[in-house]
Amino acid sequence: MNHYQAIIIGFGKAGKTLAATLAKAGWKVAMIEQSDTMYGGTCINIGCIPTKTLVHDAEEQRDFASAMQRKSAVVGFLRDKNFHNLADLDNVDVINGRAEFVDAHTVRVVQAHDEQELYGEKIFINTGARSVFPNIPGLKTTPGVFDSTGLLNLTGLPARLGILGGGYIGVEFAAMFARFGSKVTIFEAAGEFLSREDRDIAGAVATILKDEGVELILNAQVSAVSSADGAVVLHTAEGERTADALLVASGRKPATESLQLQKAGVEVNERGAIVVNRYLRTSAENIWAMGDVTGGLQFTYMSLDDYRIVRDNLLGEGLRHTGDRQNVPYSVFMTPPLSRIGMSEAQARASGAEIQVVTMPVAAIPRARVINDTRGVLKAIVDSNTRKILGVTLLCAESHEMINIVKTVMDAGLPYTVLRDQIFTHPTMSESLNDLFTLIK
Ligand SMILES: Cc1cc2nc3c(=O)[nH]c(=O)nc-3n(C[C@H](O)[C@H](O)[C@H](O)COP(=O)(O)OP(=O)(O)OC[C@H]3O[C@@H](n4cnc5c(N)ncnc54)[C@H](O)[C@@H]3O)c2cc1C
Repeated sequence: MNHYQAIIIGFGKAGKTLAATLAKAGWKVAMIEQSDTMYGGTCINIGCIPTKTLVHDAEEQRDFASAMQRKSAVVGFLRDKNFHNLADLDNVDVINGRAEFVDAHTVRVVQAHDEQELYGEKIFINTGARSVFPNIPGLKTTPGVFDSTGLLNLTGLPARLGILGGGYIGVEFAAMFARFGSKVTIFEAAGEFLSREDRDIAGAVATILKDEGVELILNAQVSAVSSADGAVVLHTAEGERTADALLVASGRKPATESLQLQKAGVEVNERGAIVVNRYLRTSAENIWAMGDVTGGLQFTYMSLDDYRIVRDNLLGEGLRHTGDRQNVPYSVFMTPPLSRIGMSEAQARASGAEIQVVTMPVAAIPRARVINDTRGVLKAIVDSNTRKILGVTLLCAESHEMINIVKTVMDAGLPYTVLRDQIFTHPTMSESLNDLFTLIK
């Protein structure tokens, strides 16, 4: 049996970064990845990179076929680069196969025609998450129904695209496919759109989507899905709706089912997520878990921060932990993107803090005129007593870059006046932060 100081299960963001760091520190490392089309993990192959490449090309009004071709080239390049980043290191064995635990130190790797067992002193689980299909009759068996991975492999643009679920992934795909020319309908079961956002922001997002031709159906109760004349039929309380393709975007859950975690003494919670402490250690003394599999926020940058915590605990001073994270921003890459950090107005009011809320239309920003996209709104919430920023939501072009500036100021504990008075280049979207915070009295 091959003996490793570290076995890493899953070629995700945390796992691949840790593998390279440990190998460079002299550890003997095995990286086990179940699919040779997933070197680099979800982000590179079926997540952030392909979707954002398509969003970019949809904005440039490239046609669907050539955008898909470019997406495949970008993904192929990065997958190969990610593979070689590890496989070319002397201390790393990249092993293709599905891993499962035999005991806390032994991992079986199941391959197409073979299997092998490996011994690991320390083991790191980074198996990510997988799409969940709600329990709707016909959903799993009807041709033309896809999860996000399936939709990214389409060979032709569907004339009509249905999207089950109006969450962030659903919104990104809706915006992107509407731009490519599909007639998009979002079927959202809840009565409220983007329930985590303030109503004025959700309303502004809905208006932009509608202006792009997206139909948004709230309180959509899809009771069954079937096939007729090569199309997907959704059976709803209001009658039948037909689409040429249906995207199921109703969430992703930790990928733990096939790992045989009980054999290693690794506990999972009721949602199948691996239970970890703030240093990302599992209930088994020699096993850690990182990334989506721990049930936290599903972002590549959270997985990367998990890596930093584990690295610090293995090779550094052991000071980092999940509790010392500050504000975590996020962006929804519709056009224009929606980005948020900190509290919404509703959360700030519920917290009991004395607050000031200011909003500004994007149409007031000179840069928005220059780039000819005046849609959206900026919103900031400031604590009236401490003068610190409690939350910012930006629905505008370049908001995915701007939000990181706000994060830096918030994490440094600086007052809002820093953004109000900062010298920013002109004409840029960032300089609108001067104007937004000037509105605070
Ligand atoms: C459509 C989509 C768009 C997204 N867009 C963004 C975005 O814009 N920005 C952002 O930050 N995040 C985005 N995300 C989320 C982001 O991709 C994930 O949070 C991130 O990739 C999770 O990384 P991870 O380290 O947990 O593991 P992953 O990258 O998910 O890697 C897990 C790996 O483990 C492998 N594996 C699983 N089980 C086994 C096993 N038993 N044996 C061996 N190998 C196994 C899998 O094949 C996979 O390669 C998006 C996700 C999706 C689906």
